[in-house]
Amino acid sequence: MIEIRGVHKSFGSLEVLRDVSLSVPAGSVTVILGPSGSGKSTLLRCVNHLEKVDRGTVRVDGELIGYRQDGDKLHELPERLVLKQRANIGFVFQTFNLFPHMTALENVSEARRNPGRALELLDRVGLADKAKAYPRQLSGGQQQRVAIARALALDPKLVLFDEPTSALDPELVGEVLDVMRDLARAGTTMVVVTHEIGFAREVADTIVFLDGGRIVEQGPPVEVLDNPQHERTRAFLSKVL
Ligand code: ATP
Ligand code: MG
Repeated sequence: MIEIRGVHKSFGSLEVLRDVSLSVPAGSVTVILGPSGSGKSTLLRCVNHLEKVDRGTVRVDGELIGYRQDGDKLHELPERLVLKQRANIGFVFQTFNLFPHMTALENVSEARRNPGRALELLDRVGLADKAKAYPRQLSGGQQQRVAIARALALDPKLVLFDEPTSALDPELVGEVLDVMRDLARAGTTMVVVTHEIGFAREVADTIVFLDGGRIVEQGPPVEVLDNPQHERTRAFLSKVL
């Protein structure tokens, strides 16, 4: 479903991703763990071509993201086609990034101007009664649930989450994780950067530990969390668990 092959990415002389390869099967949940600066956000941003990879490829359902292949040459796609590909990939950010001058319903329906579908999605995240509220009238947890509904508005093939609960007060984290758990149960393909180890243990099919731009270790939670093979993974987990 998502195939990341041999991805390298540098910012100037700083190598941020080094030969990252990862497969995310349809309907599965992958959680990415790793210290600050390890390249987690950059990896997510490479998946929908918000960052251009220096080397390697990303495919979603077999379709090359950001490029057109011509023999063994890759040509970058025009913006119009990149935007079309991006519409298939939902993205939920740490800071909710809602439009402040639009209601919850307008934020969700903005992408395809279908208020009926938008209301369904707000209902799915438990916020049908807040359809007419503006972001400033909503709690952080509610705003993030609106942002999740918005990410689902175009029926994406997968949804990327970059620390979706890190900006929330602790008592609001649970309601957002509950929504994400429901999405996972419904078979949504998800890649989630989070430090919520309990969520990762319960919901992830695969946990990826990234350090220094490399995948150090990956596998099911029982392996990576309970029986890590690498010292760096153990050291990281001992700090966050
Ligand atoms: P955090 O847990 O703090 O969010 P992260 O694992 O998401 O960290 P990234 O945001 O992917 O890390 O950043 C990886 C490295 O790349 C960092 O050293 C960061 O400073 C650098 N970096 C990221 N984006 C840029 C950019 N646009 N220009 C230059 N350097 C960047
Ligand atoms: Mg980050």
